[in-house]
Amino acid sequence: MWFRRDLRLADNPALLDAVAAGDGTVLGLFVLDPALWDKAGDPRRNHLLASLRSLSDSMDGNLVVRRGDPAEVVPELAAEIGAAGVHIAADFGPYGGRRDAEVEKALDCPLVTTGSPYAVAPGRVLTQQGASYQVFTPYFRSWLEHGWRQPVKAPDKVKWIAKQGELLDGPAVDGAGETAVRERWQEYLDDVAEYDAVRDRPDLNSTSRMSVPLKYGEIHPRTMLADLARRRSAGADSYRRELAWREFCADLLARYPDAAWKPLRPEFEQMEYDEPGDAFDAWCNGLTGYPIVDAGMRQLAETGFMHNRVRMVVASFLVKDLHVHWKYGARWFMRQLRDGDLASNSLNWQWVAGCGADASPYFRIFNPTTQGLKFDPSGSYVRHWVPELADLAGKAVHEPWKHDVPAYPRPIVDHAEARQESLRRYAAIKGTA
Ligand code: FAD
Repeated sequence: MWFRRDLRLADNPALLDAVAAGDGTVLGLFVLDPALWDKAGDPRRNHLLASLRSLSDSMDGNLVVRRGDPAEVVPELAAEIGAAGVHIAADFGPYGGRRDAEVEKALDCPLVTTGSPYAVAPGRVLTQQGASYQVFTPYFRSWLEHGWRQPVKAPDKVKWIAKQGELLDGPAVDGAGETAVRERWQEYLDDVAEYDAVRDRPDLNSTSRMSVPLKYGEIHPRTMLADLARRRSAGADSYRRELAWREFCADLLARYPDAAWKPLRPEFEQMEYDEPGDAFDAWCNGLTGYPIVDAGMRQLAETGFMHNRVRMVVASFLVKDLHVHWKYGARWFMRQLRDGDLASNSLNWQWVAGCGADASPYFRIFNPTTQGLKFDPSGSYVRHWVPELADLAGKAVHEPWKHDVPAYPRPIVDHAEARQESLRRYAAIKGTA
């Protein structure tokens, strides 16, 4: 069993298949692939190592971790133990697909694929004419109609094969690993009815934080959907819709692998962007002079996480106020985010930048001040992440330029002017498709 983005024993059909294929003797392998490892920042690496330690514990210490190119490591180990087959869950990412094809070619035994990290795998949700969806709402309707399988239990008895592997040293990470995640999810379910009312409020810190476990497969969305179905409420329905967004992003990326870094709307190839200079550095470092933007970027740097509403605001600010290409922001996010996921990241960036399949219209440009006032009404989110503004009470924190705060930068751009410039650049490409 070659674990990848499915670091769990429960609800893992590929593992069940591996156990059922023979007499229950299985070698559990994880490959630390430099092609992925080298691109990940510390938040992702540390979480991965902690999750692997937890998985290994639940396998009586028998997870075998090797470092190297999977096209060499996997066939070598399979040959060493005389494996009858190598079992995996599908990976629909552009790199994962290529890697698995190479591994399959190099193996002397079958590569058996069962399941995927999604409730409904990419490519399965189709229109009546058999085409795929470009727009989320009809995709979502069809996704619901398609439905998904019920979760499956962890295998009863596995005879794990022990082998020498890498040591998994790394800092302790709170909440990593299947057992901790399941407990956290069960606790969160008590609050899910409120999800709709609170999900847009970064100050309330009340979203589920399940993007990280979903990224590593410490829990499967099918498990979550089954739990949500038992707790029907407006909040649970809304939460289910967000899980569908994750699957829509994966579906789009599987169909258009170039969408990782190229706009889905071809006219945006002509869009005029500025080089990422000092303004980009100020954005990365949370020093733009716009409090909600700076709070989000500092939350990201300090914790590897940022609330969804704030991700939208900072992304919009980079593209439409600083006129920097979204791919620079997407790359920065991938390095910093603990939940960094190519499909969700690139497709959301494209959505904000107006060039995605189902994009927010380009002319809808977030005003960072109004966004702060609306979604952080008491200002507590900003005060927490931007201590220079801690003395500004209430809403005043969102307009520090009206007060005397020498320690905090003045806005690096004038939003009204930047907005006009964005609209001018957009007008120049409109109709060029
Ligand atoms: P909750 O609000 O509790 O949502 C529940 C789950 O639904 C999430 O865990 C996630 O799996 C899914 N979800 C929610 N919103 C979205 C969305 N817009 N798109 C796809 N799935 C969603 N999410 C990632 O997992 N990885 C990324 O790299 C990533 N990059 C993003 C970049 C930008 C510019 C934006 C605007 C959004 C990005 N998102 C990404 C989506 C979203 O911001 C996070 O999934 C969410 O903030 C995670 O917090 P949560 O688990 O508490 O979310």
